[in-house]
Amino acid sequence: MSAELRELYQSTILDHNREPRNFRVPATPSHRADGYNPLCGDRVTIYLTLDGDGAIEDVAFQGSGCAISTASASLMTQALKGLGRAEALALFDNFHELLTGAPDSSPQDIGKLAVFAGVREFPMRVKCATLAWHAFRSAIEGRSETAKTE
Ligand code: ZN
Repeated sequence: MSAELRELYQSTILDHNREPRNFRVPATPSHRADGYNPLCGDRVTIYLTLDGDGAIEDVAFQGSGCAISTASASLMTQALKGLGRAEALALFDNFHELLTGAPDSSPQDIGKLAVFAGVREFPMRVKCATLAWHAFRSAIEGRSETAKTE
């Protein structure tokens, strides 16, 4: 990764940490789930509002944690909004592949989520970046237990 790209990625993460998008509690979410990363102390709650066809009409979050966990939740809400269930779960898989796959793997269709590519080099931080996604998957699957990164 070039120095310029790394810098761009870092500034995007810092921006989303400073000003998280969709950081709110919706009035009538249809699904919600909590996530907890004991290694770092990150906590997140994901709220989903699905339409009649199961597509994601709205997605928001609350929580507190490190810059990477907050920025990841923020970017996730932007990426998921408007997706159907299958598309959303495919994006989960692609994002997971970006962070845990082989070093030369470059999953398609992840858009801005590529800013987390550098996190792969820091296994402790991978859990921070994937926490919101695990909570999202629990929420959309209707599971109520707290999603853990372990
Ligand atoms: Zn963290």
